Amino acid sequence: MTDLELTQLTRRLAKQFFNQTYPYEARFNRRLRTTGGRYFLRDHHIEINPLMLSEFDEETLVGVIKHELIHYW
Ligand SMILES: [Zn+2]
Repeated sequence: MTDLELTQLTRRLAKQFFNQTYPYEARFNRRLRTTGGRYFLRDHHIEINPLMLSEFDEETLVGVIKHELIHYW
């Protein structure tokens, strides 16, 4: 999954689960070690640990994205 696809997935989940728009970007960051994801207050982007997808599954990834979206709102 590319960063663009991750952003598209994040925007889709925002609409589907929260009926909200998320006009910012999501990207993978391999340097995240102890956390599944992180929300950045400064510019509202989300970073996701790629292990969420490679070591777990899409359901785990979706859960982490939803968690980070909550921080945004
Ligand atoms: Zn959190």
